[in-house]
Amino acid sequence: MRRKIVAGNWKMNKTIKETETLISGLLAALPKTDARVVVAPSFVNLSAASALLGDSPVKVAAQNMHFAGNGAYTGEVSAEMLLAIGVDTVILGHSERRSLFGEDDALLVKKVQAALAKGMDIIFCFGEELKDRKAGKHFEVVENQLGNVLFDLDPAAWTNIVLAYEPVWAIGTGETASGEQVQEMHAFIRKTLASAFDASVADGVPILYGGSVKPSNAAEIFSKPDVDGGLIGGASLVVSDFVAIIEAI
Ligand code: PEP
Repeated sequence: MRRKIVAGNWKMNKTIKETETLISGLLAALPKTDARVVVAPSFVNLSAASALLGDSPVKVAAQNMHFAGNGAYTGEVSAEMLLAIGVDTVILGHSERRSLFGEDDALLVKKVQAALAKGMDIIFCFGEELKDRKAGKHFEVVENQLGNVLFDLDPAAWTNIVLAYEPVWAIGTGETASGEQVQEMHAFIRKTLASAFDASVADGVPILYGGSVKPSNAAEIFSKPDVDGGLIGGASLVVSDFVAIIEAI
């Protein structure tokens, strides 16, 4: 049985006070669920979030990390620093990191390897742009994004990986992929993983959908057999919306 996961990517939002308020609101309203709930505050708020959520069912993730252990990398944060504050999960490959900060597959290989070497869990994001979908190249683009970064891994590494399919055209745009489009892509991803590895990797990896998930569309998307949850941006910043999405799983 694959684990269901609802993860909130808080991006560059919320001061420390606002983060604390969001966390206490979430804890007060958290529904009973078998799903793993994860939140990813900004780096400066991670330590406080980790302390506040320490004994709770909600896990904390980082939104990014550097591949090096330490050194002259101004502005960066290492896996060891995250682990030292109780954060053992990291989002890698988010489309904003790719498009705004120039992260490419070669860099992501190094980040994935560094996170795995430290035993961290990874939420690995990928997804096609609108021009790719319009050109009918979305499967090819997704297969390359996965293959270039993840297909040389030891099969055992997949127990630490969660995939998040996030079509770029649906992130923060209000435009959501339909349940059929999401299911079609998730099934394609499992088929691709079965060829690159085997059925146990393909069937075992949770695949989340991300891109304008909200209370009104979550249940439809989560009802699809190859969808194991969501990576939620904007709606995870509003307690009632995030809770409604968790309830939809
Ligand atoms: C995201 O940034 O991962 C995301 C899915 O954002 P939103 O839900 O706001 O589209």
